[in-house]
Amino acid sequence: MSRILTLNSGSSSIKFSVYAAGDAPARMAEGQVDRLGSDAAALTLKWQGTRTTAQIGQVDHRGGLQAILDALRPVLAGAEVAGVGHRIVHGGPRFDAPALLDDDTLTYLEGFEAFAPLHQPHNLAAVRGARLAFPAAVQLGCFDTAFHRGHPWVNDTFALPRSFYDEGVRRYGFHGLSYAYIAGELARLDPGAAQGRTVVAHLGNGASMCALHDGKSVDSTMGFSALEGLAMGTRCGQLDPGVMLYLLQQRGMTPEAVSDLLYKQSGLKGLSGLSNDMRELEAADTEAAREAIAYFVSRIRRELGAMAAVLGGLDTVVFTGGIGENSAQVRAQACAGMDWLGITLDATANAQAAHVISTGPVTVRVIPTDEELVIARAVNARIDG
Ligand code: AMP
Repeated sequence: MSRILTLNSGSSSIKFSVYAAGDAPARMAEGQVDRLGSDAAALTLKWQGTRTTAQIGQVDHRGGLQAILDALRPVLAGAEVAGVGHRIVHGGPRFDAPALLDDDTLTYLEGFEAFAPLHQPHNLAAVRGARLAFPAAVQLGCFDTAFHRGHPWVNDTFALPRSFYDEGVRRYGFHGLSYAYIAGELARLDPGAAQGRTVVAHLGNGASMCALHDGKSVDSTMGFSALEGLAMGTRCGQLDPGVMLYLLQQRGMTPEAVSDLLYKQSGLKGLSGLSNDMRELEAADTEAAREAIAYFVSRIRRELGAMAAVLGGLDTVVFTGGIGENSAQVRAQACAGMDWLGITLDATANAQAAHVISTGPVTVRVIPTDEELVIARAVNARIDG
């Protein structure tokens, strides 16, 4: 039986999974290469119930991909890789679904490297590497932006002169693979509710929320970049653009320094002065850690109200992502005093991260996300199995 490989390249890591193709793709192995570009890159592989980590020295993304291919030799055991699915952060306005990565498509996607400089170049480099390694395989791009392409224009634009919209300065929205997975799970768990009005909170190191109507994205807290909306592990979230002007003009910061500040030094890390990791903040007994969590939660609450208004009411709320799936405290704080909106949590169910954690008219769910499976399913649908 043929195999499917999924690749998800970040600025210093490449995550991968191998699936057996078939009616429903089944995950056989997964892992990641971390700390690319440092002299301590490492490859972790989970396969047949065992987790192994090997140091691979100083390698770049190309070397990281090669290390993955070497490590997968026993996993693949000579089986054909029929398709490679790539997580690609930016599909531009053109793509509202996965797309085959031919030369024209790659050229189009290169045009969005300037819009997502921390991810898009690495995503596309992995495509080039995989095309060389598996020349006969289907190469499929799965875009974080695609799920949001049906937004009404008012939710897609900024109030800048129209020429900026035309050149691509729009609210694209991200985390689309996660939202696609959740929409599918909701349709499986409760088809009636899935046709209604849902807000999904994807709360991880990156965090955003999405308003769904009948399983389709109507609005997202993320916009032109993955900086907007909620506060995140190290990203600032919503920021008055006047702050950017102040930093550049009055403080004389370079664009690189501002980028580093907004992407890497802000969010939970910046507010707490301690960590970007929610587990550490929950365990820490400091005022700054409590305030960082309080800010994180307050933005979720604001966006929940805003999205309920966009949807004209609310039937379901879903928590997902590392924090959404695991932090009973964040879920409880996010939903506290929301009875007026129909949200009442069952404290016991919340503590257990049960499938349904509410008692009120709005159903609140915890659903673990699986972005890799969305990619594998899309590839599976394009190959012969
Ligand atoms: P992700 O980016 O989806 O992997 O999520 C990472 C975030 O989830 C980090 O902030 C972790 O601290 C957080 N997280 C994972 N497990 C827990 C937990 N049991 N309680 C609170 N936060 C958690």
